[in-house]
Amino acid sequence: MSEAAEGGHARRAVVLGAGIVGVMTGLALQRQGFAVTLVDRDEPGRGCSYGNGGAISPDFCVPIALPGMLRRVPGWLLDPEGPLVVRWRHLPAALPWLIRWVRAGRLDRVEAYARALRALHAPSYARYREILGDRASGLIEMTGQIYVWRSQAAGPTEALSQRIRESHGVEARVLAAHEIRQMDPALEPGFIRGLYFPENGHTLNPLRLVQTLAAMLEEEGGRILRGTAEGFVVENGRASGLRCDGQTIAGDAFVLAAGIDSKSFARTLGDRVPLQAERGYHVMLPEPGVRPRIKISNRDHMFGLTPMEHGVRMAGTVEIASPDAPMDERRPRAMLAVAKRMYPGLNDKGAEFWMGSRPSTPDSLPVIDRASRAANVFYAFGHGHTGLTGAPLTGEIVAALAAGAVPPVDPVPYALSRFG
Ligand SMILES: Cc1cc2nc3c(=O)[nH]c(=O)nc-3n(C[C@H](O)[C@H](O)[C@H](O)COP(=O)(O)OP(=O)(O)OC[C@H]3O[C@@H](n4cnc5c(N)ncnc54)[C@H](O)[C@@H]3O)c2cc1C
Repeated sequence: MSEAAEGGHARRAVVLGAGIVGVMTGLALQRQGFAVTLVDRDEPGRGCSYGNGGAISPDFCVPIALPGMLRRVPGWLLDPEGPLVVRWRHLPAALPWLIRWVRAGRLDRVEAYARALRALHAPSYARYREILGDRASGLIEMTGQIYVWRSQAAGPTEALSQRIRESHGVEARVLAAHEIRQMDPALEPGFIRGLYFPENGHTLNPLRLVQTLAAMLEEEGGRILRGTAEGFVVENGRASGLRCDGQTIAGDAFVLAAGIDSKSFARTLGDRVPLQAERGYHVMLPEPGVRPRIKISNRDHMFGLTPMEHGVRMAGTVEIASPDAPMDERRPRAMLAVAKRMYPGLNDKGAEFWMGSRPSTPDSLPVIDRASRAANVFYAFGHGHTGLTGAPLTGEIVAALAAGAVPPVDPVPYALSRFG
């Protein structure tokens, strides 16, 4: 008998956070026999999971921090249309994380991170398809992704990235200028070098994806509660409840999947996690006029454009800042200016700007583990740039740990102990 159904009664699991990670974990817990309650202060999918670029990238296995990356940073910081900004007021608070990020980019570490990313991401698309069944149609599609550059000269990290991909069997076809034209005729012809990833895809609407999955969780007997969580009730090394708006939600197992807010909850459970808001932006164009054919990433500016059901979304860039600082509209405006040069005729009427905080660790890997002070609280956060891609397996690993079953992949690379 699964530990989730001891004594004939389903054990209760309480998941804090109804982003893509919390919802996928809730569904996986249900499959392990738990009675699941999902708690969020907002409706499902309104956190970081609302505004991402929609990429579902089984092939994503190259960590963000790489040797040679630092050489690009000064140029990025000086370019007003560049992909990276550091809010100087936040620098003292972010410095320890930034130092860890630089260390994570050492060659001797990168290969292990790549292996762990590949294990987490490779089954992603297939798992979404399986779970969504008929509802996958029109919601997710595997039409591939392309990366494009304006210059023939490869950047300092490209050869290593390609080597990592090859060692993991990732297919990345080199595209000449005319092949880029064939794949995306609307793209301005200045892009002369590209890579095509046939095994990647995207969702046509990240919010609808989370909400569809949340509805499935309810249909399968789960509960979704709206409320602001304040902390876990912990006694003798175990949690018995989650305090929420002055009440306590009792449970047998708990999951912390609160995105960037997980950091402060983890601290109350005895764990100091290096989690930094890598803030990103999107611009949504509801009537774009021209559309990329498939998801495309401008690698000179490090943002992507995704054809979605409600328009075209450009999403990306990194802003190291406090999650609570106001949005800086110069960031999405710069992205829009570059996108209009990529797609002459792109119509920005009705453009909407959005900012969200990627919950990022220095080594690009999420935290999947038990809390130090409460053995029945499980961590599922820190997915940074690829939470949409990493959510399905994260959910399965956490649910297996909670049920005392064998996880689908070795959870050790995602454990807290890696931070020393
Ligand atoms: C611009 C941008 C582009 C991106 N593009 C991609 C992409 O193309 N592909 C990809 O795979 N990933 C992408 N990402 C990353 C991805 O969006 C995130 O990794 C993912 O959304 C994280 O999901 P989550 O469930 O951990 O967090 P969230 O979606 O933030 O969910 C956390 C939830 O916890 C709730 N919560 C927090 N505190 C409390 C509390 N005290 N009480 C109650 N509820 C609480 C919040 O309301 C929220 O709903 C992108 C991110 C950004 C910013």
